[in-house]
Amino acid sequence: MSFIETDEQKALRDAVAKLAAKYNFRDYAGPKARKGEPFDELWDEAGKLGFLGVNLPEEYGGGGAGIYELALVQEELAAQGCGLLLMVVSPAICGTIITKYGTEAQKQHWLTKLADGSGKMVFGITEPDAGSNSHKITTTARRDGDDWILNGRKIYISGVDQAEAVLIVARSENAKTGNLQPALFIVPTDAPGFVKTKQEMDIIEPDNQFTLFLDDVRLPAAALVGQEDAAIAQLFAGLNPERIMGAAMAIGMGRYAIDRAVAYAKERTVWKGAPIGSHQGISHPLAQVKIELELAKVMMQKAAFLYDSGDDFGAAEAANMAKYAAAEASIKALDQAIQTHGGAGLTSDVGLAGMLAASRIARVAPVSREMILNFVAQHSLGLPRSY
Ligand SMILES: Cc1cc2nc3c(=O)[nH]c(=O)nc-3n(C[C@H](O)[C@H](O)[C@H](O)COP(=O)(O)OP(=O)(O)OC[C@H]3O[C@@H](n4cnc5c(N)ncnc54)[C@H](O)[C@@H]3O)c2cc1C
Repeated sequence: MSFIETDEQKALRDAVAKLAAKYNFRDYAGPKARKGEPFDELWDEAGKLGFLGVNLPEEYGGGGAGIYELALVQEELAAQGCGLLLMVVSPAICGTIITKYGTEAQKQHWLTKLADGSGKMVFGITEPDAGSNSHKITTTARRDGDDWILNGRKIYISGVDQAEAVLIVARSENAKTGNLQPALFIVPTDAPGFVKTKQEMDIIEPDNQFTLFLDDVRLPAAALVGQEDAAIAQLFAGLNPERIMGAAMAIGMGRYAIDRAVAYAKERTVWKGAPIGSHQGISHPLAQVKIELELAKVMMQKAAFLYDSGDDFGAAEAANMAKYAAAEASIKALDQAIQTHGGAGLTSDVGLAGMLAASRIARVAPVSREMILNFVAQHSLGLPRSY
């Protein structure tokens, strides 16, 4: 692994930064997010430029690169305040799972749309009664002839109103053992019996979250992704990209916060002509969080490199650590940027206070801080588990 990015990666970074400048926080992303409107124009343009599908195979219209490149796109967008939450689910989780386990027909139909952004697929695993314990999910898939019938409930599912389908994690009964095993289904959002209800959130964010009710949703056999009995492995294929992309979004947001804070600290003067950035009470916390963000970024790049090299096991530890570190650094960066601005930091004009709540998403989703600490305690340190 080299820390010097290739010419292609540098060119991609520059091209995405240019697009992000057009859709920057002050002029576009901030006002849209405040109205709860998705960044459709940005999504469409990023899709046309090939940024949303950089990780997907070339034969289906993707860029043929890896999660490293997709994370780079996310980081550069978020660094100008216009990160795309649905990149975490549509090309990263759903695109990866379909690439690895989908049928040829699923790939032809879905990967081409996910690659150019003309169609979105979101992801639903979380349930109200299971929460972090995804072994406890109760959404069930039962066979009826060749069809499947799905019943269950999901919560906090992002972007359902923008998506053509949700990749739903359900459980089906193993014909031999009778045990319930996870299975993945592509569920169209206009399927009869599929009911979505918007969850009101106190976050300034362009994408909505939904509670889903699946009430006898009938699906054809072709809706199953991969094998019924290999779904755990299939599910895990999507988890590393999800964590890496969550880390990328948090790192970009942290970069945005520091950039805003530094610009203000250089220009704001309240004592004898010295800018506030000359006071170490302002400069040191910013320097500290800059270090923490860079460390998180190195771990994210390591995770992406391991993942793209096919080391799923090594990538899991690094991706979890990267997501943890990125979330913590990003929240701290936003908090310090607000403090640097004094009263202005809490104004709607500056917009940092609203973004602080959004940055906290990364501490909870897609996997919470505590569940990452559990993972590291058990898998990296070999400690026994309490739950
Ligand atoms: C903005 C947003 C978007 C989301 N988008 C999606 C999506 O698109 N698709 C999807 O499927 N889900 C989505 N989620 C759900 C998210 O993945 C869950 O919120 C998250 O996994 C935590 O589950 P929970 O909210 O049920 O918390 P709970 O599991 O109820 O946990 C509550 C608290 O207890 C802690 N805790 C739980 N178990 C343990 C333990 N063993 N040890 C120590 N602490 C523990 C948790 O860390 C947390 O702090 C989203 C959530 C948010 C907030």
